[in-house]
Amino acid sequence: MKQESRSTKFGKYGGQFVPEVLMPALEELTEQYEKHKDDPAFNEELNYYLRDFAGRPSALYHAKRLSKEYGIKIYLKREDLIHGGAHKLNNTLGQALLTKYMGKERIIAETGAGQHGTACAMAGAAFGIRTEVYMGAKDTVRQRMNVYRMELMGAKVIPVKSGSQTLKDAINEAMRDWVTNVETTHYMLGSVVGPHPYPAMVRDFQSVIGKETRTQMMEREGRLPDSIVACTGGGSNAMGIFYPFLEEDVDLFSVEAGGNGLKTTEKEALHSASLCAGQEGVLHGARTKVLQNKYGQILESSSIAAGLDYAGVGPELAYLADIGRIMPCYSLDSEALEAFHDLCRFEGIIPALESSHAIAYVKKAAASGELGDVTVINISGRGDKDLETVLGVKQ
Ligand SMILES: *Cc1c(COP(=O)(O)O)cnc(C)c1O
Repeated sequence: MKQESRSTKFGKYGGQFVPEVLMPALEELTEQYEKHKDDPAFNEELNYYLRDFAGRPSALYHAKRLSKEYGIKIYLKREDLIHGGAHKLNNTLGQALLTKYMGKERIIAETGAGQHGTACAMAGAAFGIRTEVYMGAKDTVRQRMNVYRMELMGAKVIPVKSGSQTLKDAINEAMRDWVTNVETTHYMLGSVVGPHPYPAMVRDFQSVIGKETRTQMMEREGRLPDSIVACTGGGSNAMGIFYPFLEEDVDLFSVEAGGNGLKTTEKEALHSASLCAGQEGVLHGARTKVLQNKYGQILESSSIAAGLDYAGVGPELAYLADIGRIMPCYSLDSEALEAFHDLCRFEGIIPALESSHAIAYVKKAAASGELGDVTVINISGRGDKDLETVLGVKQ
């Protein structure tokens, strides 16, 4: 294990806690990203794909009926309208283009529920780059349709049969692959997590969400919103919309999954909320806030929304929470489900269960005044993928 220089960190969080063999790969990636991120040709090509392939800019929609119901003026940032149905493609397009600029010929990734793997497969196909996705063998059975989606788009899905046959085993296998094939292969991470430069790089690729929101708010309201609310798993849709507002007088709310708080105690309910209830520790190559017991063992998180089910959180969010720049908060499964139905009925929009956590927080908090008069909710994705789950829950 190697410690890192200061520039890889957000306060005491972040860094590069990886085996020595991976350090050259991270150094190369950092160097290449720094080299290309302000390159006009790189950005022109990325913007082309974001516009004509992904469908950007996404709409900022004044949800009039939901506003009336919740008692606060609500705008929805419609990442659910992006190709693939979520914000994830913003990141995979950026990393796929970088793969091309680095002269690498292969992308690998790991996926749990299959959302990130699908976004990798889309970007891999669009750029004609061979894409291989590691997935726990159990997850390949549970998420059969996403496996099929990836295969339709030419990606190879590799079932991982070791350990618990889920996401963490898929991560181990992908790491092993990267170490062996680093000359030819880029490892595509799906959120603002992992060792430097991933948290900063993924944030930059996702910050197109916040940049557009700024421009669109100025057009609509002639001013910035009082608050922005985003759900947080690893934290990429939250960092993406927050980042261009960090220096502004806008309150930022990061809503984590509180799990099934109706059946357990409130303390246990926090078991999916790393920012609210996590302790400082190292997870997947970075120092951050991690759900762990007093012996440092990682706790199982649990949420109705697969995308929020992560024991850690991006290191920059951990830092921003510590200095008081963002407000960590949470919604329970039951609250998210109620908000899911609210958006369906009042606005004709079916949100992802992840995004429903953000909506639910606005419902709870609007009356207290903490969100101000005008708020923006980041609708990180659409809910078609969640219908089976919603159907299975008795309301
Ligand atoms: C993956 C996913 C999330 C959680 O990931 P973040 O990195 O925290 O944004 C949230 N919403 C949707 C729709 C997702 O697919």
